Amino acid sequence: MVNTAVIVAAGLGSRLKERTTHQPKGFVEIDGLAIVERSIQQLIASGITHIVIGTGYLSAFYEELAGKYPQINCVHNKDYQDSGSMYTLYQMRDTLDSDFLLLESDLLYDPSGLKYLLHDSTQDIILASGTTHSNDEVYIEYDHNHFLVNMSKQLSVLKSADAELVGICKISIDTYKRMCQWSAEVFAQHWKWDYEQALVAVSKNKPLLVQKIEHYVWCEIDTEEHLVRAKQDIYPKLQHITEQSFPVRRNILLNPGPATTTDTVKLAQVIPDICPRETEFGELMKWTADQLTSFVAPIDQFTTVLFGGSGTAAVEAVLSSVVGEGKLLIISNGAYGERMAEIVGAYGIDHEVFASSPIMPLAFDEIEQVLQHNSNVFTHVAVVHHETTSGILNDIHKLGQLCARYNIDLIADAMSSYGAIPIDMLHSHISFLISSSNKNLQGMAGISFVIANRAKLQALQNHTPRNYYLNLYRQYEYFEKTGQMRFTPPVQTFYALKQAIIETQQEGIAERYQRYTHSWETLIAGLDQLELQYLVPLEHHSKIITTIQEPTIDGYDFDQMHDYLYRYGITIYPGKIGKLSSFRIANIGEIDHQDITYFLEKLGDYLNTIR
Ligand SMILES: *Cc1c(COP(=O)(O)O)cnc(C)c1O
Repeated sequence: MVNTAVIVAAGLGSRLKERTTHQPKGFVEIDGLAIVERSIQQLIASGITHIVIGTGYLSAFYEELAGKYPQINCVHNKDYQDSGSMYTLYQMRDTLDSDFLLLESDLLYDPSGLKYLLHDSTQDIILASGTTHSNDEVYIEYDHNHFLVNMSKQLSVLKSADAELVGICKISIDTYKRMCQWSAEVFAQHWKWDYEQALVAVSKNKPLLVQKIEHYVWCEIDTEEHLVRAKQDIYPKLQHITEQSFPVRRNILLNPGPATTTDTVKLAQVIPDICPRETEFGELMKWTADQLTSFVAPIDQFTTVLFGGSGTAAVEAVLSSVVGEGKLLIISNGAYGERMAEIVGAYGIDHEVFASSPIMPLAFDEIEQVLQHNSNVFTHVAVVHHETTSGILNDIHKLGQLCARYNIDLIADAMSSYGAIPIDMLHSHISFLISSSNKNLQGMAGISFVIANRAKLQALQNHTPRNYYLNLYRQYEYFEKTGQMRFTPPVQTFYALKQAIIETQQEGIAERYQRYTHSWETLIAGLDQLELQYLVPLEHHSKIITTIQEPTIDGYDFDQMHDYLYRYGITIYPGKIGKLSSFRIANIGEIDHQDITYFLEKLGDYLNTIR
């Protein structure tokens, strides 16, 4: 929790001429209130309990303000005439001991900017806006993932002007210490360093996030022209702002789901309160179920049964509901296959496991032999379509044809393939297919579903139930009769899923797979360059998840690598296949090849620190 703010207010404000001969520029009034006092009131209203003001020119004004607001504490920079804002900040090194908001004294701004910085868990954030044309802008150059590269008033020193500095930042105490350390070394040559220059210096070794809010309402008041703009344009706008909807920061998730989502999917969750037993919500679920079916099967012969719960809930629902007194053959080549065996084990369901190599394709002749030798024993076969632990893709079409020949029902866990890899349940003879809302569909976590052959589903009617919450037939029947889920659904997640489905339809499943494939190609090329090995032979890759062998360099540590990348907004995930230590990169979600390029760059930087 950040509860401290620092205002740098030592400057002369000489560009405001006679307006600042008798008072510091923070005391210029708009609508009868000094701009700095309005800022202080906004800080207090946002939960700030401690305000340190760095004073210099006419500091008595601020001392008086401190008398009025007990939250204020002034720190004087006696060399304010010759020094810059960093020197003022440097005077506080004995006072500051926790993360703080840093503000300039001459700002008029939308207070929701403060809440935005305070609510984001990132420790260092520089608030920025789109173009203001205000004259005197500080331009920001940032990298692909919006981390600071450079800042300057001179466009010529920047490769690109990506945003404008507002003059409100969230600074961690570690960053502040680094700023002071750097400054102590350069003050000897130059006293007039601004805090902006110190931030740029720190950003060479530490990621500092730039949060750009395109249409943020704010201005700085340095000149008469600024003051006119503040009074005529900005202040009236601020009075009309009631609620600002800000973009939510996007992280690059390279873990195998939940995946990075679009802003539109995130924001779709914010809806008026609604009871999920209303017709309106029932219609939303019906629409959702129909769309989910039609991605992979004809809607007249297949139907989708929805559950509140993570993907495993739907896997468990199918396995514990459909096998009955029959026998299940589980084809397993990774952790998710093993999990299926654990589930049926818990229910005491008769089963056998056909174990296959985690990195090589299924041996169909061997599977066929098992079925032949046990003719009429197996009623069901279960397989993971895309084994997320290794990134190997199992040929469910071929398996479905085989099952059809032996009159066996095929159950496919398509959790991490559905939504990206085209599937045709009818022609591939798949009776039950399972997936969830938060992988390739790019929705939020919390909904899992079973797409079922309707006739096979209806045949379960007289099965003696082994389960309750997860009973597939009961869930289906109740929804058919009432248009409701049996138990409370994750309401807001459904609205996000609706938006995610619309976006999947707009992009197209084949096109989504192309985008993922482009990311995967970029990844493979980059891994080769970094001399890192992947486990599965290239021709068997799903192009969705890649398992990479851990480097054997001394000093390599997965957690350190994770933390290094995490600070740049990138999340990676460990993995273990057999005895081999590995990590996994999933290129699913709302990311593309440019994000992968950025990741490779940062991964290279990390490896250079240990190589
Ligand atoms: C993600 C995944 C699951 C389900 O995992 P949850 O954590 O329960 O959502 C099941 N099978 C496969 C193949 C998966 O990739």
